[in-house]
Amino acid sequence: MRLPWWTITSHSAPVRKASSVPAGMVSFVPTCSTTDAQALDQLQDFVSRARRLFVISGAGLSTESGIPDYRSEGVGLYARTDRRPMQHAEFVRSAKSRQRYWARNFVGWPQFSSHQPNAAHKVLQQWEERGKLHWLVTQNVDALHSKAGQKRLTELHGCSHRVMCLGCGAISGREELQRQFISLNPDWQAQAGAVAPDGDVFLEDEQVLNFRVPSCSNCGGILKPEVTFFGDTVLKGTVQFVHDRLAESDAVLVVGSSLQVYSGYRFLMAASDRKMPIAILNIGPTRADHLAKLKVTGRCGEVLSVICPL
Ligand SMILES: [Zn+2]
Repeated sequence: MRLPWWTITSHSAPVRKASSVPAGMVSFVPTCSTTDAQALDQLQDFVSRARRLFVISGAGLSTESGIPDYRSEGVGLYARTDRRPMQHAEFVRSAKSRQRYWARNFVGWPQFSSHQPNAAHKVLQQWEERGKLHWLVTQNVDALHSKAGQKRLTELHGCSHRVMCLGCGAISGREELQRQFISLNPDWQAQAGAVAPDGDVFLEDEQVLNFRVPSCSNCGGILKPEVTFFGDTVLKGTVQFVHDRLAESDAVLVVGSSLQVYSGYRFLMAASDRKMPIAILNIGPTRADHLAKLKVTGRCGEVLSVICPL
């Protein structure tokens, strides 16, 4: 009987273990037992058989770069605080909410923008260079894939390093806005607290009151990070573009996402409809586990650098 190519064979496994986070390092990575050698072999086999790999990445990829995610048990933002991310409608409706958002974002920006790609980002960039990776879709807005040099990339939820005007649609750099914030608020000072996945930080109400927010220099419109906030939808053209790249691919790998948000999950449903083989590398359960041929539990950077040494 001829087995489908994704049927995994188990090799006599050398002892290969993913190491743990160094002691003393602040970690937003959920606890995870060591990934076993057989699972690593299976994932390596899956990747080596793929000719045009389609990858979806999520917050779990960036936790190893020091950026907390929202949903991880114990260490995610939802578990650690009662704060919730900005809703699109509230941002558009309320000048006060925008002032609060930008004040926090201003304080958090130097730290948030300084995060660097980790081993997982680098491996994915290598796969692109070697012609293994056909397309990468990320749900992250932290620019770490582009910092790693990824080109065949769609940032599904936008990127916090860009700013857009809700009036005229002009796109500008977040660094430029930071310079405007500094010149508009020369005496404004605040102490940065914990930084959230979207670059937000924690400030008291009275600290926010005097913070001045510029409007668009072209049209006077509202400036917003070029990021899809909760309650907003991804542009139809972007979704179709990603579906087209998926249709050109021959296997799907999910890296560091629980796929709880529909905007990413829909591509797994489409892949399943196309009978494409799916593998998932994540700590904890995902919404698409029932669709996957292979599920590997482990830290993204550790696992990917073991199966594909840099
Ligand atoms: Zn404008």
